[in-house]
Amino acid sequence: YSNILINSKMREAALVYLDRSGGLQKFLQDCRKYSDSKQSYAVYRFIISINPSDIAELDATLGNYILHNPIQAAQIYQSVCFIAIKTLSLIEQLQTEAQISILLKPTHLPPLPSYVLSLAEFPFNYTSQRFYMSEGIAIAMGIVTKYTQGARFLCTEETCQFSKGFRYIRVHLPGATESATVRNDFVCGLCSSPLQEDMKFRVLGDKQIVEMIDAKVLNALKGYSNDKSHFRIQTFTVFLRDELANKMKIGNRYKIIGIPACVQNGFQATACIEVNSVQLCKPSPSFVSDNFKDLLSLTANSCWRFTAILANIFASQVVPPGTYNTLKLAILLSLVQTCEKENADYLDLLIVTTDTLVIDR
Ligand SMILES: [Zn+2]
Repeated sequence: YSNILINSKMREAALVYLDRSGGLQKFLQDCRKYSDSKQSYAVYRFIISINPSDIAELDATLGNYILHNPIQAAQIYQSVCFIAIKTLSLIEQLQTEAQISILLKPTHLPPLPSYVLSLAEFPFNYTSQRFYMSEGIAIAMGIVTKYTQGARFLCTEETCQFSKGFRYIRVHLPGATESATVRNDFVCGLCSSPLQEDMKFRVLGDKQIVEMIDAKVLNALKGYSNDKSHFRIQTFTVFLRDELANKMKIGNRYKIIGIPACVQNGFQATACIEVNSVQLCKPSPSFVSDNFKDLLSLTANSCWRFTAILANIFASQVVPPGTYNTLKLAILLSLVQTCEKENADYLDLLIVTTDTLVIDR
């Protein structure tokens, strides 16, 4: 009984927050879009933005529930939205609560260590399916492919009441593989007959797999890591779905909020993160060595000396110091002249080699 009471209190708070945060307005717009399309879908998807501080202030129980049980908290919103749609007749085509899929998107997480998931740490905690934030560099990515966002199943026994309607709706959950959503061995809960998918109702979404790595790795590769502690130099699989597909670019550093999961693929289990939000990190100023700073202060009396010395010694492994100075100065200047445009589409590379195959690659 007390659980029912808590749930109904949370539902009430969820509705109040939706109204106050402007989320209700967006929800009504989304409903109108579905309603205007006149099309019947297996799943109606809604994205609800959550500011954890605001919601915790309004109702601590709900705030806590969203942060620590996001999948169950989405069910609270699912029933709130269903009641709203039914009472206000927002989407005529919608039949059951199971057809509503809610994606909760926190604007940020409390800046506390327990919400940080380091990609460099081992072991990786993927067992608690709650929100974490993480930071890393995207180093590889796949193309955008399709996945099943939702599907409708029907009982194969014609006399069974669930051979019609929208009783069996399966929706993708964080960390679930395709086979968890769509498979051919589901059975009817009422008559135990096999269920069959109604293919014309399958809802497809976009999916992109990105490999991320902790930024600490860059320091290790540059050779000036004096960090004595051991850390994990391994990439992490990150799932970007739907509106987040194509939100990352190779080489950029991102802050992500997501839910860790373990994906079982045959005999192999991969720890991964289902991302809810992606934020580009501003590039931090590059590391300048002490020798370099010393050189700058020693040559401060002339505005040309520092540049001249740099051009003189630049690429000394390739051409003897003192030769091709004008060319080397031009190359140096062009390398300095970067990072003006944020999100620039190019990557500056200077390659000196006799092997043209390497450059081609
Ligand atoms: Zn049945």
